[in-house]
Amino acid sequence: MNLPRFSMKKYIAFLFLISIVFVQAQKKFTIVLDAGHGGEKDPGATRKYEDLGVVREKDITLGIVLKLGRMLEKNKEYKVIYTRKEDVYPSLGDRTDLANNSKADLFISVHVNSTAAKIATASGTETFVQGPNQNKTNLEVAKRENDVLFLDEKDRERFASYDPSSPESLIALKINQSKYLMASLTFGALVEENFVNKDKRLSRGVMQKDLHVLRMNAMPSVLIETGFVNNPDDARYLASENGQEEVAASIFDAIVKYKKNIDLKRGVKENDYAKEKPKEAPLKNDFRIFLFSSATKYNEDAPELKGLKDVLIIKENDLYKYYYGLTNLASVRDNFMKTARDSGFRNSYAVGFTPDQKMNYGYYTLEVVVTKDKLNSKSYVLQTLKDLEREKRDGVFYYTFGKEETIENAIKLKNEIEAKGIKGVVVEKKSK
Ligand SMILES: [Zn+2]
Repeated sequence: MNLPRFSMKKYIAFLFLISIVFVQAQKKFTIVLDAGHGGEKDPGATRKYEDLGVVREKDITLGIVLKLGRMLEKNKEYKVIYTRKEDVYPSLGDRTDLANNSKADLFISVHVNSTAAKIATASGTETFVQGPNQNKTNLEVAKRENDVLFLDEKDRERFASYDPSSPESLIALKINQSKYLMASLTFGALVEENFVNKDKRLSRGVMQKDLHVLRMNAMPSVLIETGFVNNPDDARYLASENGQEEVAASIFDAIVKYKKNIDLKRGVKENDYAKEKPKEAPLKNDFRIFLFSSATKYNEDAPELKGLKDVLIIKENDLYKYYYGLTNLASVRDNFMKTARDSGFRNSYAVGFTPDQKMNYGYYTLEVVVTKDKLNSKSYVLQTLKDLEREKRDGVFYYTFGKEETIENAIKLKNEIEAKGIKGVVVEKKSK
């Protein structure tokens, strides 16, 4: 009678697994979709075309948001909250309150750009996160999107006393938004990346802007300008079902990637707890996921890294090798691998590193600066790191620092240097 008992065990394990899945399914990832403008009084930016008729921002934003919502609602992991599902005007305060009261994980406001010119030479997309205005162009966009303010009584009371140029406002703004800034930027970059890679559109980037509709949100928030209503090509695209579907699909894909990153971080934490129980024995080696190698050094937010964070670069024989993650647990290693492959690194693989292994025929150093122009002796780097070594090859100066026997020590030294504000330091393996 061994067999049934074994099956019962399996059955109980299965039930347990189901209950875990169920508990996790309870915590839905909540997204507020905000179709910009709306109603009779606020059509947003408009432009009349001979063939298209009047193209209105409020119609395009609603079209995109409804399509995006349908994509998300197919998956039970997502909960979608709309600030409007028809041609009405919710006040800015209502939009923010709805987002905050629902404790949403992400707030996405969809808009359409325009310029003062009759026909815009500008085209393409841009995504804004909340922050102090960085330049004059952004100020103009801010003025236009914030104009909505004067349309609603309640909003006037709530927002009108706000003077964005006052020092108090700026400080409050920085404190309030810094919590969500990185996450907002990460998500914004994923959106813009998709517009370029999937839809072959022009991206004007991810920028900071001081916007009423984002300012009081207590969650990562972005405002996406999906194109220019007074650029004929953009307008035709955005007014079409197909164009709206593409824009929605790109935002949808960015949400999926963004959520996956968050889940992964959570998963790693859970695995850290598991480490304390003797459940999974650690492996003898540490593992990192090898992504790719290149003669070019990319910085941490370069599109080549496809949004992966905490990528370690190890330079070897003039090639930069990019690694993701670090673990000595098989399950975590496999998770890292899956994330790398899902992010587009199809040929990535796990590489074992013997902990604290000393290099026999060589050493680790840190490549601190690579430059065509010799560093000034008064530069911060030279002032901070006294024993910087300089080498010139093919007209390029390579500045390196330190000599370590193990990769662990080299990484420790790298972290110490970066804590002093010297960024982009690369661990380099030198053989004698
Ligand atoms: Zn707008």
